[in-house]
Amino acid sequence: MTTSPWDQPAPEPAQAARPNVAGLDLAALRRLMVDMGESPFRATQIHQGLYQQRWTAWAQFTSLSKALRTRLERETELRWPEVVESAASEDGSTKHAFRLQDGTLIEGVHMPYPNRTTLCLSSQVGCAMGCTFCATGLMGIKRNLTAAEIAGQVVTMLNAHGHATLDPVNIVFMGMGEPLHNLDHVMHAFGLMTDPKGLAIAPRRITLSTSGLVSGIQRLGSFARRPRLALSLNATTDAYRSSIMPVNKVWNLDALAAALKAFPVEKDERITLEYVLLKGVTDSLDDARRLAAFARGFPSKINLIPFNPHEGSGYEPPTESRITELCGFLAGRGLTVSVRRSRGQDVAGACGQLVRERRLP
Ligand code: SAH
Ligand code: SF4
Repeated sequence: MTTSPWDQPAPEPAQAARPNVAGLDLAALRRLMVDMGESPFRATQIHQGLYQQRWTAWAQFTSLSKALRTRLERETELRWPEVVESAASEDGSTKHAFRLQDGTLIEGVHMPYPNRTTLCLSSQVGCAMGCTFCATGLMGIKRNLTAAEIAGQVVTMLNAHGHATLDPVNIVFMGMGEPLHNLDHVMHAFGLMTDPKGLAIAPRRITLSTSGLVSGIQRLGSFARRPRLALSLNATTDAYRSSIMPVNKVWNLDALAAALKAFPVEKDERITLEYVLLKGVTDSLDDARRLAAFARGFPSKINLIPFNPHEGSGYEPPTESRITELCGFLAGRGLTVSVRRSRGQDVAGACGQLVRERRLP
């Protein structure tokens, strides 16, 4: 078995003094009620309030007795990530900064489309993967996010934008962090998001994007219910991929291709290949030819992402004519290809631009 620096788990947040009820599933809520000497039925009411009504304060839980609300107020916390800053982009998307229990800041993006809303979530504070083109990669890893902090980005953004309970929502793990380096919490959050009696988001509407942690891809494939998979390929030769994505030194393109071929896709499922176009570096026709060969190995669709510039990165986005040319080339070879025009560029909310280091008081 291959071992890697990323087999080492990322740091966890310090435990709060009182249990946080936000982020508990029904079974955990039942245990809490039993521990408090209350009827387990109360757990169902709390669960509904948390995930269907998306209530954020005990005073809103009018289905519970006043006495129980007072006890919960005293003995527990009800803490979702708190929005401390929101930046609306001209294209309709909004980048939110959330403050967590320990003062750490993370970011999520709300992107409305005509027939759905897509929420881009962070899975860690920072990232340990060190990709050279990514602003988050440059800040290093601070810690994992908990399930409450991950699912809480959804609850908080849906509330902030006044969504109705069953509005169609897509989730993408394409914010800060490498979700396969925090798979336990991510899968717990996936359970909260897809619970039909809770947030009720269909599993096929949730996509996890990874830089290529093969051990994590294999583990993800072993879950009966799981998010869909996207791989950030970003380069087509081992020499170059290793130079911009250190993970490639542990699992190279052959190892990745083998893991994706073995991944148990469903009938209508395709693995998304994300490919960041860096001008003069990854946007040649030879790259497109190798990308096409890689993509044919399993059911796939290709997302070309023009590089989003950020300070000091040293890379540039490709020209429009080159994007059109590459797109045409890949489509002409029978591949499904789209160009992801990252949203929110004017507010630095696009892929790879999410970075937070400072702490608010
Ligand atoms: N860590 C995961 C998910 C978060 S990054 C991963 O790497 O897949 C989400 C996507 O943004 C990835 O496809 C990544 O390659 C891309 N990305 C990172 N920095 C970028 C930048 N500056 N411009 C465009 N895309 C970028
Ligand atoms: Fe981490 Fe993804 Fe950025 Fe790489 S691209 S540093 S894996 S967030």
